[in-house]
Amino acid sequence: MTFQPVFDLKRPILIAGPCSAETEEQVLTAAAGLKDQGVDLLRAGIWKPRTRPGAFEGVGTPGLKWLKRVKEETGLAVTTEVANAQHAYECLKYGIDVFWIGARTTVNPFSVQEIADALEGTDIPVLVKNPVNPDYKLWVGALERLHKAGLRRIAAIHRGFSSYGDSKYRNLPRWQMAIDLMQEFPGLEVICDVSHICGRRDILAETAQKAYDLNFDGLMVEVHPDPDKAWSDTAQQITPAQYGDMMRTLVRRAVTTDDPDFLARMENCRSEIDALDEELIHLIAQRMQLVREIGAIKKDKNVAVLQPERFRALREALQRRGEKNELSPEFISLFLEAVHQESINQQEQIINANTAGQPAPSDLWLND
Ligand code: PEP
Ligand code: MN
Repeated sequence: MTFQPVFDLKRPILIAGPCSAETEEQVLTAAAGLKDQGVDLLRAGIWKPRTRPGAFEGVGTPGLKWLKRVKEETGLAVTTEVANAQHAYECLKYGIDVFWIGARTTVNPFSVQEIADALEGTDIPVLVKNPVNPDYKLWVGALERLHKAGLRRIAAIHRGFSSYGDSKYRNLPRWQMAIDLMQEFPGLEVICDVSHICGRRDILAETAQKAYDLNFDGLMVEVHPDPDKAWSDTAQQITPAQYGDMMRTLVRRAVTTDDPDFLARMENCRSEIDALDEELIHLIAQRMQLVREIGAIKKDKNVAVLQPERFRALREALQRRGEKNELSPEFISLFLEAVHQESINQQEQIINANTAGQPAPSDLWLND
């Protein structure tokens, strides 16, 4: 799949605005507060997917007129959530600039397909949030459905994953899934919705910085003129002023640079690393060769002497060496475990013609 940028080359892409459009005044006030803060897109939910019935479910179609006014009065582009074909048609009619598909919709291929069909033949940009559950294929599948409908201006939004029980986050970030997406689709813009990951204000800034450090293309942040009185997601929204303060604290580090000195030094270090990696693999292979020899000797002599002392001594020696070389005990344990596992596999091959009474492979390791 190839994608076109939803936004021009400006980085980071900044999306901010209230969780829900509540009143015309609230939307316009939020937009006015964000207009001069470098925001690219004003967000506001018009149809709200709520976990329990009875919660505020959005103002519906009348709210689209408010977003249209935001465009006219502030020049900001606007985005809202579409969860079915009807929403998509309404948003097209009112000139909404960018659509997003919410986490509860991405989980349902029927709904995503219905939206993709409704948008076929348009060039509308669509942002696809990850599904609520950590299912990478489902996320990619939603991107594919839109892509197959001919849309190219598609981006992804990482908003974390639900879990049961207490956690620091409302939705666990599980960053690796977003990183995997970036790596599989280098042309795809991936934006981090820090508000829905955090679910609370006090860890928003640190989470946004983390997203920047992981090279996300942009941020989505929920901003409300009076967060404590918001009709949805009260605990995670911040004021436009707080948004401005937070954004000023964030540090955006360059992914790379054209500076020749930088490039030369990086190149030197990288070629040294490559050479060392090669040597490391060679050394480990030599070590495995010895492990196989031990397996063969023991098989030959039918020796099954358990030597837990040997393994303990080995572990201690490695830990001591690790400490001297500024390697963490956790790393040494992981390393030893990986080598252990591979040694067992290698010895298993040697003693495959195992006869009853011979030592189990894991015992053989203890003798190496
Ligand atoms: C939202 O953006 O307000 C929203 C409902 O988000 P999500 O789909 O990520 O839960
Ligand atoms: Mn919300």
